[in-house]
Amino acid sequence: MKIAMVSEHASPLAALGGVDAGGQNVHVAALATQLARRGHEVRVYTRRDQPESQQPERVALNDGVEVVHVPAGPARAIPKDELLPFMGAFGDWLSEDWARTGTPDVVHAHFWMSGLAAAQACALPGIPWAITFHALGVVKRRHQGLADTSPPQRLELERRLASTADLIIATCSDEAAELTRLGAPADRIAVVPCGVDTMLFSPAAAPRPPRSPAKLLSVGRLVPRKGLDTAVRALVALPHTELTIAGGPPRAELDQDAEARRLRELADALGVGDRVLFTGQVAHERMPELYRSADLVLATPWYEPFGITPLEAAACGKAVVGSAVGGLLDTVVDGQTGRLVPERDPRALASAIAEMLDCPETLADWGRTARARAVTRYGWERVAERTEASLLGVVRGRRAVEVPA
Ligand code: UDP
Repeated sequence: MKIAMVSEHASPLAALGGVDAGGQNVHVAALATQLARRGHEVRVYTRRDQPESQQPERVALNDGVEVVHVPAGPARAIPKDELLPFMGAFGDWLSEDWARTGTPDVVHAHFWMSGLAAAQACALPGIPWAITFHALGVVKRRHQGLADTSPPQRLELERRLASTADLIIATCSDEAAELTRLGAPADRIAVVPCGVDTMLFSPAAAPRPPRSPAKLLSVGRLVPRKGLDTAVRALVALPHTELTIAGGPPRAELDQDAEARRLRELADALGVGDRVLFTGQVAHERMPELYRSADLVLATPWYEPFGITPLEAAACGKAVVGSAVGGLLDTVVDGQTGRLVPERDPRALASAIAEMLDCPETLADWGRTARARAVTRYGWERVAERTEASLLGVVRGRRAVEVPA
């Protein structure tokens, strides 16, 4: 197939860890790469956010995947919540490009705004289009309330996209349920999870027994909804532990980051400041060694559309204590690969961590199970194979084709 992916704000070429660069960038890069390896021609369309002299129109990501920088709006970084006004121009440019270079067989949009551009460009030539939302406005609004900076039209536009897409690829069962509540027809929803690079993310050759102080690790963008404050608060009841928080801007810029400052002040006020370490942004290739260096990985968001970091930890053979929300309900198996605890509950988190650290054999055993499960269910090869089956289904005019995990 000629597959056009549209990922308006999340470029597969971007550095990760910044406010708007995380799992979606990883997902698009890995899925595009694997689909190309399966013989498809893949183009990823993303918004130009630097002048053309620094960001050529077309860049090869690797063999078979071309990244196309679309001129839509100013050629500089703009927060994703301010990109809606440029989606019409994005869609127009897609139409022109397809008229020039040939029509794709199928379009796979990532995130709701990409869905708008894709739907517009696909309408006239009648190209089938699929969408992976990555996050849903209705869930964000529920949890963030007035702090939600999404455009006010988001909820209604997502509802429309959900009822008109030829295929919706949900990344977890919780998202599929949300989509059904939004009015998406069940026969157009396929659940295909995000994946993990199980070669890059692999266990240490010789796993260490837990140390004292035990090393806890949280990875993620420094945004309040990642619930890093819950992990900091839990430390109060866990005197023999240290917490490393990885992510955010580069280390030298952490002082200017509002969330890093807030977390530091909180840790100091709680008397645990000397046990919380901020690394700032970590190069993605260095992430595996970071997971391997941890005794236990925490993922404590308020909500999480999917959450790649718990999967990366699992692939590195680490048990995870996570919030019982969103994608974690599928990726962390309570009592087998880690523990699920209520979100925003430092006490429950601390007691699950203490129990796990108290039993090194169980911790190691759960880490092994987590690795095995990551390899069989979440390797990108498998995820790409399932995505391919779903996309082929819409190209051939069938509804959501779901290949079992
Ligand atoms: N990540 C990274 N460096 C950082 C912080 C994060 O490479 O400093 C990567 C991390 O390994 C994971 C992704 O960014 O692959 C975060 O994805 P996730 O789905 O957990 O969260 P999102 O940022 O999409 O909400």
